[in-house]
Amino acid sequence: MRKVDIAVVGSGIGGSLISALNKDKDLILFEKDHNLGGCASTFKRFGHRFNTGATTFVGYEDNHLIKKMFDKIGLKPDIVQSDIAIRNIQGSKKVDRIQNFEMFLKQINENYYHPNNRVFWRRIKEIDEKFWSLKHLYFAKYSFKSFAKSAVFIAELLKEFNTDLFISAEGFIKSTLPNISKEYKAFIDSQLLITLQTTSKNATLLSMSLGLAYPFHKVFYANGGMGKLIEDILKDVEVRKNEEIISIEKNSNKYHLITSKGEYLANKVILNSTIFDSSRLFLNDDIKSYFQQFKFGDQSAFVVYVKLNIKKEFVHHYQMVLKKDLPNCISNSFFISFSHEDDEVLSKDGLSLTISTHTKAVYWEGLSKDEYENKKLQTQQYIMDEFLKYFDDIKSENIIECFSATSKTFYRYISRSNCGGKPINIKSAFSLPSCKTPFEGLYNVGDTVFAGQGWPGVALGVDVLNKELNSK
Ligand SMILES: Cc1cc2nc3c(=O)[nH]c(=O)nc-3n(C[C@H](O)[C@H](O)[C@H](O)COP(=O)(O)OP(=O)(O)OC[C@H]3O[C@@H](n4cnc5c(N)ncnc54)[C@H](O)[C@@H]3O)c2cc1C
Repeated sequence: MRKVDIAVVGSGIGGSLISALNKDKDLILFEKDHNLGGCASTFKRFGHRFNTGATTFVGYEDNHLIKKMFDKIGLKPDIVQSDIAIRNIQGSKKVDRIQNFEMFLKQINENYYHPNNRVFWRRIKEIDEKFWSLKHLYFAKYSFKSFAKSAVFIAELLKEFNTDLFISAEGFIKSTLPNISKEYKAFIDSQLLITLQTTSKNATLLSMSLGLAYPFHKVFYANGGMGKLIEDILKDVEVRKNEEIISIEKNSNKYHLITSKGEYLANKVILNSTIFDSSRLFLNDDIKSYFQQFKFGDQSAFVVYVKLNIKKEFVHHYQMVLKKDLPNCISNSFFISFSHEDDEVLSKDGLSLTISTHTKAVYWEGLSKDEYENKKLQTQQYIMDEFLKYFDDIKSENIIECFSATSKTFYRYISRSNCGGKPINIKSAFSLPSCKTPFEGLYNVGDTVFAGQGWPGVALGVDVLNKELNSK
């Protein structure tokens, strides 16, 4: 049986970053799938490559945690900055989310005029900037040292944000943008649903600010696909692809892992499986019941993958906000990502598109094969009709391939039917599980634990975990 110091279960953003940061240790990363990256992977189908989920890369800028991590790993990522982070379309309205505040504000005033627009967006930007310049970002439990460091973080939050911390997003919108139009509110909420998995109804002012302000940062496109970026991160790590962890048993101070291909004995285990799915891996009742306390987050993704036979320059990302919800979804908007025209991998023989929206896992369960396929086709067709209506220079004849994924597909490939992390709302902000567990040597990482989803959220969790792992 192979002995190893650290076993990492899963190659999502979290599992990959923590492995690369500790690549000098005796560490193995196990990934059940053939592709690396989980929700941030790139896969090949019908001879073409598609990004599975994540398409935007944020945080590679000076003084940001992600840039610092990449520098430490020794990786200069192959990325292109998106001048327009997202083009937001709602009927005849068009707003480009760009870094330049004044130019963005001008568009907001042209499309969604409100006398307090400047006050609102300035505050959103300032809160976001203040958050990312905090010195003690930390949240972990189960030891005096971890609690103490978390307390320092909470004290810093209170000092910097004061009563702002307790303001709800909805309250802030009502007081700053009184009589906001339904359309303007939908513009805001559709963006929050993507970044926070929830709308202003359940968000805090702080989480709303982080969710709305990300296009004020540099937003990048990953050449060759998001999965290529993950592969580059893992270039010096011992990775076992196609090797699933089937069970884990803690015996005294060691973890005995049984995989689809062998057995290992590890001092430490880092789980990049979701907090909802980790219990089934364990044979120990106490560890099982620890993970069972976390209620399954039912929110998931519906994704359409499209290959076009054209090569043309588009904005990298569009968000289309419609008047009513999409069928079998919980959103009235969808997010379209085009591959970069010059990307030799994704745009080989034409553009590759990933179009995603929000659904619930429960909508796709308990169906016969026919019911499932019909439901899937109905949603896909609806999205594609709206897509073709807007992009009138793209014709149905240009579509070479079109297929979609539901929560069931995500479960089959990457063992998670919840997608996009735990919604960050008022209730969950301080109750997110931490990277540390009550069990010595057992850790969590990924978007269902602190600090939530996407590159910046997961990286923040990785940073805390890295400090926990390496603290003396
Ligand atoms: C449709 C969609 C679009 C998104 N768009 C963006 C975006 O544009 N930008 C952005 O920053 N974020 C985006 N996100 C969010 C982001 O992709 C996720 O928050 C992030 O990728 C999750 O990373 P993670 O570390 O939690 O790992 P996950 O992605 O959950 O990966 C976990 C990995 O662990 C593996 N695994 C699980 N169990 C086992 C086991 N027993 N043995 C071996 N391996 C196992 C899985 O196969 C998987 O590869 C998007 C998410 C979705 C779903």
